[in-house]
Amino acid sequence: MYRNILRHPGPTPIPKKVELAMAQDMISHRTEEFVKLYRETTARVKPIFGTKQDILLIPSGGTAALEAAVLNTVSPGDEVVVITVGAFGDYFVSICEKHGLQVHKLEKEWGQACTKEDLIDFLKPLSNVKAVFATYNETSTGILNPIEQLAEAVRNHSDALFIVDGVSCIGGAPAEMDKWGIDILVTGSQKAMMLPPGLAFVAVSERAWKVIEANHTNAYYLNLLSYRDWAEKGMTPNTPAISLIMGLSAVCDLIEEEGGFSKTVERHEIMKNMVRESMKALSIELLTSDEYASPTITTIRTPEGLDLADFLSHLKNKYHIDFAGGLGSLQGKVFRFGHMGYCLPSDILQAVSLIESGLQDFSYPFEAGAGVSAAQRVFLSSSGK
Ligand SMILES: *Cc1c(COP(=O)(O)O)cnc(C)c1O
Repeated sequence: MYRNILRHPGPTPIPKKVELAMAQDMISHRTEEFVKLYRETTARVKPIFGTKQDILLIPSGGTAALEAAVLNTVSPGDEVVVITVGAFGDYFVSICEKHGLQVHKLEKEWGQACTKEDLIDFLKPLSNVKAVFATYNETSTGILNPIEQLAEAVRNHSDALFIVDGVSCIGGAPAEMDKWGIDILVTGSQKAMMLPPGLAFVAVSERAWKVIEANHTNAYYLNLLSYRDWAEKGMTPNTPAISLIMGLSAVCDLIEEEGGFSKTVERHEIMKNMVRESMKALSIELLTSDEYASPTITTIRTPEGLDLADFLSHLKNKYHIDFAGGLGSLQGKVFRFGHMGYCLPSDILQAVSLIESGLQDFSYPFEAGAGVSAAQRVFLSSSGK
């Protein structure tokens, strides 16, 4: 096979410039050379999080960053609220339960977002909540929770920390951690950050550092205070994912070349609209409303009469394009179209055209070309000449 077009919501494709940056000669992490790389690169990542705080890098998947956020801020027996609107919210619930926390679960139907009103009502009878955990972008359903408004609700209606899983959108969605009042924001490398798996990012507010300092966690590898102490020296407590940090520096170059992070966010917004309008033009249903639609992943209902597993494996075998199936109760009912990180509007035109080709192979009744031209219209109207 010449290539595999990966349209999953993570892992995602890697730009050639990033691959080449990762192929540089290895260096030691206890050298001036590394300190320079580390300081410069983490400083350039700050605008992606919307923070002035240090960006801490853990050599791990996103899950370790979620676990670090839990381990460092709260203790067994503490009351926490976990907002869950899908599989990854449930995952956060499991991490909290495993650590012996008393979890109040604010659950919404899959495909819905959690609104500010939902959260305010939920917090009302609770008086001792130490932290509220939320997923910014629910990767199982393609919902982007209104995280700025949720942060405001936490601030105004509790003394809790607000801890956010940004794994499948940071790098493609707007984030103003400091301005919105998020206390901990985490992400992983392999979703919208254009890197291979293996690097987790954590940013912590002043308020949360005070809580962490008083909390005396037993965590060793995931001890955020030790990451903070070493970061002051431009280093990490143990061997970092050096190649991935070299790659991250190239990611920052690409974002700069694009015209800055706001342009990257704009591109994701355009791709989201291209995908959504194309499916509407094909009369194929979307799981989520436009209002809370994710800029990085779109969840599409299985076209009527098709067997989803057959359809997706046909697309992969014949056209070498790879979409993700549904998770949990959505298995067989939806597929997930990832459009984050190293993905351009031209890739959306290609993917929609291949979906249409597959539909023709299955004799699905639709007007050929309608999806592609809808996507093209969105693209043309949102870009200059
Ligand atoms: C992928 C994902 C995770 C898990 O990240 P890993 O790198 O697989 O550990 C957590 N939360 C969300 C929202 C995700 O999309």
